[in-house]
Amino acid sequence: MFAQNTLEGKSAFIAGGTSGINLGIAKGMAQLGARVAVVGRNPEKAENAAREIIDETGGKAIAFSADVREPEQVDAALSGAVKEFGALNIIVSGAAGNFFAPAVSITPKGFKTVVDIDLIGTYQVFHLGFSHCTDDASMIAITAPQAVMPMPGQAHVCAAKAGINMLIKTLALEWGPRGIRVNGISPGAIDNTEGLDRLAPSEADRQHWLKRLAARRFADKVDIANAAIYLASDLGGYVNGSILTVDGGFELGDAGADCLTPTDR
Ligand code: NAP
Repeated sequence: MFAQNTLEGKSAFIAGGTSGINLGIAKGMAQLGARVAVVGRNPEKAENAAREIIDETGGKAIAFSADVREPEQVDAALSGAVKEFGALNIIVSGAAGNFFAPAVSITPKGFKTVVDIDLIGTYQVFHLGFSHCTDDASMIAITAPQAVMPMPGQAHVCAAKAGINMLIKTLALEWGPRGIRVNGISPGAIDNTEGLDRLAPSEADRQHWLKRLAARRFADKVDIANAAIYLASDLGGYVNGSILTVDGGFELGDAGADCLTPTDR
């Protein structure tokens, strides 16, 4: 029997789901029937995101304000989501901080902030989420190419995201026997996000990055939402401890591919 691509009746908690890629994931999940709780620090932004989800999908959504660095706040948001929608079938951890700076200029405080939000935050969301989720829950961390590709100006993010990749695999190993799957998605550069705006502030920068991309286009938020839906639904029911790379081939590097690109199409 083939699995159905549906999230009908599932309850989802999306840390960092109040903007960008994660909001796209929340919308995709709501459209397929999940009741979604979106979480960010800014309460107004979170309320707006929940309203946007409801308006655009006709689904159910609720907003919580919490900082993933603060365990009490994360736990309160998890409890609130369970109270509203029932035990969590899906937990997404995607809150992140980023800025570009050469390693010599990153202060220990700046480095620690990124590690705290990305890595410790993900640990917190999953660790605390463990006691709020169903026995067959799917947990998904949003990682990045920086986890496996050293990138100048990104020492803090590279370290934090590499940690997330190992956290995913370790939790998958520990929690797999309990029925809980833990996976990651590594998005490439996503159009219309703050992340890409920081990476490529000018048109020349955009063209530079596009040349490095086998797909020759930036990703759309929907590309990442589709991957999250796959991992969250029964379609991905046997996938555990995987990092699903959804980057149009970015991680493959260019390696001079330009000279081999067919021009006669
Ligand atoms: P974004 O629009 O900046 O969204 C970040 C979300 O996280 C917001 O909801 C933000 O809300 C929340 N957040 C930030 N710090 C938080 C904290 N301490 N506690 C709780 N929530 C917090 O981000 P994005 O560019 O779409 O990226 C989303 C994810 O994809 C990140 O994990 C990022 O590393 C990854 N990624 C992005 C790209 C890209 O091209 N954009 C590429 C690869 C990977 P508040 O500000 O209100 O807290």
